[in-house]
Amino acid sequence: MLTFQQLATVTKGHVVQFVQPLPILNLLTDSRKLSQPAGSLFFAIKGKYNNGHKYLQQLYSIGVRQFVVEEESIDASQLQQLYPEANILQVQNSLEALQTLAAWHRVQFQIPVIGVTGSNGKTIVKEWLAALLSPDEQVVKSPRSYNSQLGVPLSVWQLNANHTLGIFEAGISQPGEMENLQPIIQPTLGIFTNIGSAHDEGFTSRQQKVDEKLKLFKSVELLFYCADYELIDEAVRQQSIKSFTWARRQAADVTITAVTTAGHRSTIVYTYQGQKQRISVPFTDEASVENVLHCLAILLYRNLPLDEIQDRLDRLQPVAMRLEMKEAINGCYLIDDTYNNDLAGLAIALDLLASQPRRSKHTLILSDLLESGLPEEKLYSQVAELVQAHGVERLIGIGETIKAHAAKFGSGSIFYSSTQAFLDDFQAASFRNEVVLVKGARVFEFEKIVHAFQQKVHGTVLEVNLDALVHNLNFYRSKLQPETKLMVMVKAFAYGSGSFEVANLLQFHRVDYLAVAYADEGVMLREHGITLPVMVMNPSPDSFGKLQQYNLEPEIYSLELLEAYLSSLEAGRKYKMHLKLDTGMHRLGFTPEDFDALFKMLQQHPELKVESAFSHLAGADEALHNDFSGQQIANFRSMAAEVEERLGYKVIKHILNSAGIVRFPEHQLDMVRLGIGLYGVEATGSEQEALRSVSILKTTISQVKSIKQGETVGYSRKGIASSDKTIATIAIGYADGYDRRFSNGVGQVLIHGKRAPLIGNVCMDMCMVDVTGMQVKAGDEAIIFGPQLTLVELAEKIGTIPYELLTNVSTRVKRVFYAE
Ligand SMILES: *Cc1c(COP(=O)(O)O)cnc(C)c1O
Repeated sequence: MLTFQQLATVTKGHVVQFVQPLPILNLLTDSRKLSQPAGSLFFAIKGKYNNGHKYLQQLYSIGVRQFVVEEESIDASQLQQLYPEANILQVQNSLEALQTLAAWHRVQFQIPVIGVTGSNGKTIVKEWLAALLSPDEQVVKSPRSYNSQLGVPLSVWQLNANHTLGIFEAGISQPGEMENLQPIIQPTLGIFTNIGSAHDEGFTSRQQKVDEKLKLFKSVELLFYCADYELIDEAVRQQSIKSFTWARRQAADVTITAVTTAGHRSTIVYTYQGQKQRISVPFTDEASVENVLHCLAILLYRNLPLDEIQDRLDRLQPVAMRLEMKEAINGCYLIDDTYNNDLAGLAIALDLLASQPRRSKHTLILSDLLESGLPEEKLYSQVAELVQAHGVERLIGIGETIKAHAAKFGSGSIFYSSTQAFLDDFQAASFRNEVVLVKGARVFEFEKIVHAFQQKVHGTVLEVNLDALVHNLNFYRSKLQPETKLMVMVKAFAYGSGSFEVANLLQFHRVDYLAVAYADEGVMLREHGITLPVMVMNPSPDSFGKLQQYNLEPEIYSLELLEAYLSSLEAGRKYKMHLKLDTGMHRLGFTPEDFDALFKMLQQHPELKVESAFSHLAGADEALHNDFSGQQIANFRSMAAEVEERLGYKVIKHILNSAGIVRFPEHQLDMVRLGIGLYGVEATGSEQEALRSVSILKTTISQVKSIKQGETVGYSRKGIASSDKTIATIAIGYADGYDRRFSNGVGQVLIHGKRAPLIGNVCMDMCMVDVTGMQVKAGDEAIIFGPQLTLVELAEKIGTIPYELLTNVSTRVKRVFYAE
């Protein structure tokens, strides 16, 4: 095992303090993911959006005793004083130290390692290969898509003496990155999946991107790739890398002569070593077939008999890249993660479970773990440790193997030998107000369990992509000065997206403030365990008691409101408020005429502190109003200066909303207020490309029918068939928030990627669309809005703004949250 002294030697660090020898088991880079303080070594890394050095104190207080810190960030004598019991190493760059350590670890194991890179399919190829080779090898692989500068070292750190084969993926977004990853993975074999548009923006050309990616393979014995990708093929030849190719359009080591599909399977005919062979795979889409062909090449190269190859391919399952979160029966909340169930994946899912606020019990339903590369004894001891460390209160284990190791788990645990046995015993009533993580390997078909937990609702759902939210958050963060604080608006049910989930994510990503419109929204956040400061923009006097009880901070915009609020305060406590200034929006806020009275009242009540002063721009999104915005900002600056002077202390000053952040970067002041941008709409339109679409509203087709020319559709007989038509009735109406102005051809929905126009008026719970000439049937999905049918486009059609469409989606529409 690695000692602290060795760590210092390997990373060329400087030991600031060595107190005692401690085991180094986990490498920790994210203070939120701590489960075993005693064996953790924390690397304080300075990232684009965060700085690990901020969390030393917190980690020390919960028992972490080993730190790697950067020379520039913190002074050595200070460290010894603050953390007297910790081993501390100082390095120039913590991320580089982590990478160096991982590269050192890699060299301890002389086993074959397959490195996977390319634009698409890395994760699936890696997962499939691991599954296909697991009968012969003890495989260690990257968890999920851990393929970044940080993810790769953490992946490789898992390597231990039991493993006989490593499969690690590497992803890059700009030049220079692969040079860091190559020595960590040191692949002996390589797979270059393909080259496409992903991360084009980081490179000067595709060619440059190919060359960069190829750096992973500079010392492989053999590189597997598809020779039909000309850019890859040329570069590989030029660099004389030894290769094993497959191709459809030319001769290769494996020459594909035909791919045909029937039902849910594809048959692939190919020539290998002069022999014509055929295999069949349980997939039909292009991408899956390409991914499978990479795997086939490896299996052929390993000389597996054809019938064995066929047998293993038959057992391949689609890789569930999504982790979904949704409301379930009896107030339960379900985290559905049916991704391949291995130890690293379990640890990640448990981190997520542990990050759910503790309003309720945490339950884990777990299947046998597959492909762990560890002896069973050891594996289930580790699983039990993980489960305990993450504070799981109830474990339900499913499968013969986990059942056999029941004794390792706490006394509250229950075990079943199969999914069916659990379902036979499933009593909905025994689950109540708990967060339930469902984590099972594919073969256990845990989707049946998820189904048993689901509430019965109609087929309309709003899917919210949490990764896209984080992407958008980071986009706006990248525009901020390091010291500018960030308030995020989660009013109106987080712009229709679901306040608690969004707030929870924002809390996890450490924004500084949240804002809601009404006290009740704030109370709801508190009841779900949100501890961030929360500003309430429309506090009514009858809600003051609640504000104080739940530690919510009101916006005060008038003398009357201030007077009422002051009279509600109890002596001996401290309170915070936010002062709203009217600089030209003429909605809410104080004007300079109010100042004398305002400050007189505030001076008499030192128990009430003005935490911030702010104003709102009326036309931040349009250049047309630039002069006006400039005037508002100037007014605000001078009013806020007067506020501070008259109060005699500093307050947080803020005026920019989403559009303002993009258009007036020089006026960020102390804080900005992010709204619509987080939810994927760039209000100025100029940087829409940089944002990801967050929500998809979808429903299903209830019925398909044919109508004759001249017949009419729906209420008031407004939809008149101009010719014979096929129409589909879909399960969404104006009561779900689908605007009636979309009636009669104004709106369109997407079915199988094609646009179907509305016919007739939108009804309360349904509407009809024209699907003439399309292949559709009852039960098919219809997309109301999403990346291919944007809120911006739809809003324009009916003369409104995306804000209205988003917030109109009725609460009866079920929200499903997912991460990739
Ligand atoms: C809603 C709101 C915002 C956010 O506006 P966006 O245009 O959605 O960014 C900011 N400030 C105040 C006072 C708001 O009411």
